[in-house]
Amino acid sequence: MASRKILHADCDCFYAAVEMRDDPNLRQVPLAVGGSHERRGVIATCNYAARAFGVRSAMPTARARRLCPELVLRAPDFERYRAVSREILALFHELTPRVEPLSLDEAYLDISSVTRFQGSATWMGQWLKAECLARTGITLSVGAAPNKFLAKVASDWEKPDGLTVIRPEAVDAFVAALPVDRLPGVGPATAARLEALGIDRCETLRALPREALIEQFGKFGQRLFELCRGQDEREVRPQRERKSVSVETTFPRDLPDLASCQAALPELVARLEARLARHGHPPPSHAFVKVRFNDFSLTTLEGSAPWESLMSQAWGRGARPVRLLGVGVRLRPPEARRQLPLFDEAP
Ligand SMILES: [Mg+2]
Repeated sequence: MASRKILHADCDCFYAAVEMRDDPNLRQVPLAVGGSHERRGVIATCNYAARAFGVRSAMPTARARRLCPELVLRAPDFERYRAVSREILALFHELTPRVEPLSLDEAYLDISSVTRFQGSATWMGQWLKAECLARTGITLSVGAAPNKFLAKVASDWEKPDGLTVIRPEAVDAFVAALPVDRLPGVGPATAARLEALGIDRCETLRALPREALIEQFGKFGQRLFELCRGQDEREVRPQRERKSVSVETTFPRDLPDLASCQAALPELVARLEARLARHGHPPPSHAFVKVRFNDFSLTTLEGSAPWESLMSQAWGRGARPVRLLGVGVRLRPPEARRQLPLFDEAP
């Protein structure tokens, strides 16, 4: 069986990175995004200058202030972070539809069947990093490996602005040397129990028989048995991709003719463009116009012609008063879809 190629892409100190991008005054100071200490808030993210003082995510803000008295604190602005996140997700989708977002700032990408960049995970990682920086001003760290667990370890390996590739033939040696607390699910408590057994790295963990691990750790023992051998069969589960974006209006009174339909177009198109901008989608590949006539018959015409031309062709199919008009765009390139019939039942 051919081995899989998985990328884990993770923005570096995402919320803080967005704040530093938008306010140059914040770039040279220790910065954290989180709740204020008066409200018993915690740190959501901090930049690397703050990390040098020992400030960490999930730390109470009061403690962060004690560690770093000059810490600049910003309240989170999730609307802004979400907008950047959508741009980055759209970038990932340019490489492959097989994208599984984990949060606003990280995702798995299954690139096993991507043929661009000669199929090279290294080139794809370099491209993602360069494009992300150019388009959004945010740096990414990318890990490439034959499975999710190792891709995630790899993206963290050379953070920030890192790119680490673990080739299939290198997995065994890489995992053998890996400290056990780098395994997903191994927190401080499990790490301490393993240490009490004389186990610090995966190589020593491998010496424990499966039965002993299951006896010690229950179901998680089986998982530990696999992880310390670099095994992880979990699939990348793509989020269901949005296939189209559209807006429509049902008119209080039927539009009597084509000219009145054309007159209604600019407002619809402006609403569509505003919605597309909000979603941060990649450029649409195909437009469509939807017309419901006063006899409730519905027609949808798709194409790349100007809106006015699509409208007059669609209207010509019924040539009668109109109850509803819609305009939309398909978001996936046509070659990625099965051939669409000219008439859709319902887009
Ligand atoms: Mg991150």
